[in-house]
Amino acid sequence: MKAFVVREPGDVALREWPEPIDVEDEVLVTPLIAGVCGTDLELIDGSIDLAYVRYPLVLGHEWVGRLEADVVDVGPTGTHVVVEGIIPCGVCDACVRGASNLCHVYDEIGFTRPGALAEHVSVPCGLVHALGDDVALDDAALIEPMAVVWRALTRVPLRRGLRVAIIGDGTIALLAAHLVRLFEPTSTTIIGRRNEQRELATSAGADEFVIGTPQASFDLVIEAAGAGAAVASAIERCARGGMVILLGLPPHGTTVALAPDDLVNNDVIIQGSFSYTRSAFADVVRRVNGGDLRPSFLITHRFSLDDAATAVNVLRGNEMTGEPRGKVVIDLTRG
Ligand SMILES: [Zn+2]
Ligand SMILES: [Zn+2]
Repeated sequence: MKAFVVREPGDVALREWPEPIDVEDEVLVTPLIAGVCGTDLELIDGSIDLAYVRYPLVLGHEWVGRLEADVVDVGPTGTHVVVEGIIPCGVCDACVRGASNLCHVYDEIGFTRPGALAEHVSVPCGLVHALGDDVALDDAALIEPMAVVWRALTRVPLRRGLRVAIIGDGTIALLAAHLVRLFEPTSTTIIGRRNEQRELATSAGADEFVIGTPQASFDLVIEAAGAGAAVASAIERCARGGMVILLGLPPHGTTVALAPDDLVNNDVIIQGSFSYTRSAFADVVRRVNGGDLRPSFLITHRFSLDDAATAVNVLRGNEMTGEPRGKVVIDLTRG
């Protein structure tokens, strides 16, 4: 079959790849739509910690597909499904207490085992979730990154009526604006870098899109730019009694100067969040199936699998022509 494979860091191409072999308790799925993201660039470049990757690697960890066999408690052949990417062992202490994102045996589709940028992928049956008949594939393709954001939001004591700021204007920032609406904030401000993203920010539900750091302070500041300076300004912009969520991943080794007395005096929560738990993923699937979340407005670029290399270029910003850039997807239903 055809697959988009990183043979080793720096060497990515569409290649012939063996069809998945039959494995007990796994099912074959045909990927239909798959997003690509900054993490894929790190996997291509080899800048990701080697504990989280195994080469050669078929990319693709944000995706929706179609079952190629019946799965008990999920559905018959042909059912549209999403699949949790992290494969938890289920028995380590992290798994037992529900922190499956911290499973001691790290294994993840599109990182340590073949991903969805291929004609077929084999996945554990227990991690498959059926989609409702009326769920659009484009909305479902964004479930994985939404689960990452959702898990972060549900780690802190959110309540209604917060003044929210989100630093960054990439997909994760825009999804954060879309998801935080469920907590009925008083206002949501996106602090971005590219004016071209303004319309997407509005579609995501942001009340305000600003370039440069505003002087106001906020009850909840979400750092989704992945830069040390953004982390520092997130903490600075946090109101007394407020919360800071760190969603962006600055380059390894980045440090940030802190004024700990301010953190104490201001009674601030700073929360990091890694990937998603099984329950966060299931929550997001439920909300997508229930119609609360329709994030497909974020998809701005679409390519066939044959054009996956172009998709990667767009993602890198190499073909940036002053137009908005939301989610870049590969549509595997296109020939
Ligand atoms: Zn991703
Ligand atoms: Zn485990």
